[in-house]
Amino acid sequence: EYVPLDQINTWKQSQSTEVTEEEEGKDLLRDKVSLYKGDITILEVDAIVNAANSSLLGGGGVDGCIHKAAGSCLYEECITLNGCETGNAKITCGYDLPAKYVIHTVGPVARGHVGETETKDLTACYQNSLELVKGFGLRSVAFPCISTGIYGFPNEPAANIALETVKSWVKENHDKIERVIFCVFLEADYRIYKEKILQVFQDN
Ligand code: ADP
Repeated sequence: EYVPLDQINTWKQSQSTEVTEEEEGKDLLRDKVSLYKGDITILEVDAIVNAANSSLLGGGGVDGCIHKAAGSCLYEECITLNGCETGNAKITCGYDLPAKYVIHTVGPVARGHVGETETKDLTACYQNSLELVKGFGLRSVAFPCISTGIYGFPNEPAANIALETVKSWVKENHDKIERVIFCVFLEADYRIYKEKILQVFQDN
């Protein structure tokens, strides 16, 4: 069971916001973002982002799910990448996934602490992943809540960084991207994102 991009609601569709006369026909930032709750491995988008570890050779959480769904060819390609530094991102094919590509990024190990380094590194994960999207001419990408699982980045500050970083990037690269999907897995993250996405994306 795959979920095609056109079945993933945009922010605006899910909020059923009235389109004002002034907004009619305008290319709004909020038409380019979605909030989706569920398994990232079933999304039929150009790229899904993997919250990987620095070895890029698989692990638990979303990383384990992605490798399981993509098949062993993903692991074989990851071996050739020689790992990845925190905050950086590397791209592979999607293999058995409905997504064409996987962008592997390594979030900071925060263990509950949000300092300058953790903030800078998590911001870089989103930026560098989006730069790969642009570089490969991809149009749609889905992000998990990077670092908020095993790596222990507190959920609310992580959501703020994710939303604000994506917003700034999409603003700058408007014509390069069709859709960014925030793929949350936990109800707690869904609540946080649902509230914040409104505030962050309601104005252009
Ligand atoms: P990290 O090591 O970067 O913290 P984790 O995989 O432990 O990465 O957690 C990151 C987020 O991914 C968590 O919110 C977790 O609940 C979520 N997650 C786990 N499995 C999936 C999945 N199949 N699809 C989307 N998100 C998932």
